[in-house]
Amino acid sequence: MSMVRTREAFEHEEFDRLAPFAVKSGASRGRLHAESEHPYRTAFQRDRDRIVHSLAFRRLEYKTQVFVYHEGDHYRNRLTHTLEASQIARTIARSLRLNEELAEAVVLAHDLGHTPFGHAGERVLAQLMKEHGGFDHNRQSLRIVDLLEDRYPHWRGLNLSCETREGILKHGCHWDHPVPVPDATAQPCLEAQVADFSDEIAYTNHDLDDGLRSGLLASEALGAVALWRDTERDVAQRLGDVPERIRHAQIIVSLINQLATDLVDATAERLAAADPASADDVRAIPQRLVGYSPETDKRKRELKRFLYRELYNHSRVVASNQRAEVVVGDLFCAYRDDVSGLPVQVHEHISEDGEARVIADYVAGMTDRFAIEEHRRRFGETV
Ligand code: MG
Repeated sequence: MSMVRTREAFEHEEFDRLAPFAVKSGASRGRLHAESEHPYRTAFQRDRDRIVHSLAFRRLEYKTQVFVYHEGDHYRNRLTHTLEASQIARTIARSLRLNEELAEAVVLAHDLGHTPFGHAGERVLAQLMKEHGGFDHNRQSLRIVDLLEDRYPHWRGLNLSCETREGILKHGCHWDHPVPVPDATAQPCLEAQVADFSDEIAYTNHDLDDGLRSGLLASEALGAVALWRDTERDVAQRLGDVPERIRHAQIIVSLINQLATDLVDATAERLAAADPASADDVRAIPQRLVGYSPETDKRKRELKRFLYRELYNHSRVVASNQRAEVVVGDLFCAYRDDVSGLPVQVHEHISEDGEARVIADYVAGMTDRFAIEEHRRRFGETV
């Protein structure tokens, strides 16, 4: 017997180990460009590895989650956000007997398309690209893996499997995309649904953590939020008198655990009731099967409303967003006025993709610090 386990062995094992409604790598619909499969990595492991080795993935380190990178070294950036979300997705996927590697690959790619400075940058590009097909970060994530990563001799992009691309696409494709996209279904596969919720669990909790750490959020104000208040009481009962930083950390640990556990339990109940026989059955069901119980959903919504009001709309965050909008807008317009400023490898794509799209791709691909530096170089001022 060979000492090396083969891809075929892993594929067989998936059929035994995973639920009938999980996506199986051995039944993948394949890639846009035919390639021979790897001797001992499944299709989704290979997707995951391609994403981790991509240029866009490395750039996530210097892209904003909520706090721009120069505000401090202890806050989340898009890379650490992505890693936290992927770890939560793996846990949830595994406990529901879903394909952990597919869920992981989807999460690792889900934020690749974010512009510098998060949603502030995205808003400006969406406005500036209105007449040229629009801009949105999910679509941009798909453009990156399908077209913009530049590593292979015979095709553009990473040539990921159909299922990983389906997960990145999320809600079907309502725009022009130069290469064929997976067929639109009522819902994406369960692994993609898990990826979506894991993203939300990760950012809700780490934004709370960063908000408290930065002083933008006050824990007293959080007392008005039922989910926080009840968790704080439980933690206090369990731990007694501990320093505030330990108490906050333990509340957040407990919140992540509560949300993930509720999601697993409520999803398992819905799966038992709907009883889908395959991943395709899941795709045909109009409503999402992954989700919280109604009570937890309500409590989570209250917490998110609090975060919108107190953190995402905090005057300091708003001011930083306004500066970001100026930087992204100025850079886009500068390249529109004079495309000769674009690097050669970017310029090359103008004939195929059009000038506005190429500029949007280039500006969206920038890290926060590169955009700030480039703005300073061109406009000679710090915004
Ligand atoms: Mg995200």
